[in-house]
Amino acid sequence: MAIRIGMGHDTHRLEPGGPLRLGGIDIEFDFHLAGHSDADVLLHAITDGLLGAANLGDIGQLFPDTEAINANRDSAEMLDIAYRRVHEAGWEVINLDCVVLAERPKLLSHKDAICHRIAGILGCSRDQISLKGKTGERSGEVGQGKIMQAMCVCLLQQRP
Ligand code: MG
Repeated sequence: MAIRIGMGHDTHRLEPGGPLRLGGIDIEFDFHLAGHSDADVLLHAITDGLLGAANLGDIGQLFPDTEAINANRDSAEMLDIAYRRVHEAGWEVINLDCVVLAERPKLLSHKDAICHRIAGILGCSRDQISLKGKTGERSGEVGQGKIMQAMCVCLLQQRP
């Protein structure tokens, strides 16, 4: 059985005003992530991880920030489109392991909703999606609440 591994990473700035769109859900919070699309840092890292594993380029190639259609675009839709490409290329998810680096908010109470949302987009089960939250220990731009970052490692297998 052929398997492929991929990794994704992303960073977005935090700006005042909620809600926070993260992992495809809206979280009550006093800051939001800023970017060309809806700036969902976690879904962007996952999208890049999946595209990388299938060697299909990256999120910037698929959804250029120079194209008006991608302005304020729903990252769940972008992940859906990217994963369709991955699927059409003959691959399916075995599992994802994700890390979100954020000083606030605490992710524990949102983890299950986010994992269910991601599993729904990818058409897999919730137990194939792992999510961990880490703080910046009050140091660096993460620790000062200026940015959030996300990382994702994903494993694909060749579809039968
Ligand atoms: Mg991004």
